[in-house]
Amino acid sequence: VFALTPRIGQLVESVSLLQTGSAAAARIDEVHAMGTEPVGLPAGAPVLPQEPHPPARVTFQGVCFSYGPGAPPVHEDLTFEVPPRTTTALVGPSGAGKTTVFSLLERFYRPDRGRILLDGEDIADRPLTRLRALIGYVEQDAPILSGTLRDNLLLNAPEADEAQVHDILRRTRLDSLVARLPDGLDTPVGHRGSTLSGGERQRVAIARALLRRPRLLLLDEATSQLDAANEAALHETLADIGRTTTVMVIAHRLSTVTRADQILLLESGRVRAAGTHERLLATDALYRRLAAGQHLV
Ligand code: ADP
Ligand code: MG
Repeated sequence: VFALTPRIGQLVESVSLLQTGSAAAARIDEVHAMGTEPVGLPAGAPVLPQEPHPPARVTFQGVCFSYGPGAPPVHEDLTFEVPPRTTTALVGPSGAGKTTVFSLLERFYRPDRGRILLDGEDIADRPLTRLRALIGYVEQDAPILSGTLRDNLLLNAPEADEAQVHDILRRTRLDSLVARLPDGLDTPVGHRGSTLSGGERQRVAIARALLRRPRLLLLDEATSQLDAANEAALHETLADIGRTTTVMVIAHRLSTVTRADQILLLESGRVRAAGTHERLLATDALYRRLAAGQHLV
């Protein structure tokens, strides 16, 4: 029951964003019906290039959290910083609280103690819809709908235009897939995306999150083994995204971790060690053991 809560939250958010989109469209129709010129740029003015969203800085300060009064603590004095425009990998034993870090950032739950800051501002002080609009969250086994590829991509960003869609398709290396599909973006993807490979489904979910132009991308990697080509495509995608967006990835594969700017090794509710792959290999026995077994979850 508990595990369902975040997904329901996301669905509710999707619905409200879709409603916002159609309300805006209705207002535009009204303006046109009134025969007035929309106030804005003078006719013929060049379209301004889209301002890139500044990547976010994430700070956890002494965060303590448990799922309920009787439940054992998940985080005890969890403290770390993720600088803007970097990729941070969260690793640690299963149950170490990696997914819970994302749930707290999305404010599905609140810390019992401590603070979580985005760009120095406590996330508790932001309106929830504004907070979630800043964050792109790709959960493990992100749901794919049975509609077309376009339906899936525009689920949370109905206002995205064709140029943005194509830019994101290129960045997520989905453009070659689209070229192969009989009806391109308008090809149905089958029940829950059954016509797509696991890697393609994951990249569709990432593309969907990126179309909202998030300032922070949270990616809970799928555990299913991707084939080599899909894995390479995912890493190219992440490397590209990491240049313009702050990325936090719960990494199940060593190959993702070795490329991260920073690795946070979680254990017993704290950051046991932080640093690059090379540094942690040299300094931390648990990390060496996890890396050797590749059991980074
Ligand atoms: P990880 O992602 O590192 O494997 P999680 O953050 O999913 O760890 O879980 C941390 C701990 O919290 C685990 O002991 C898990 O059983 C528990 N937990 C996770 N989600 C919930 C929930 N929704 N309700 C109650 N306990 C939970
Ligand atoms: Mg997890």
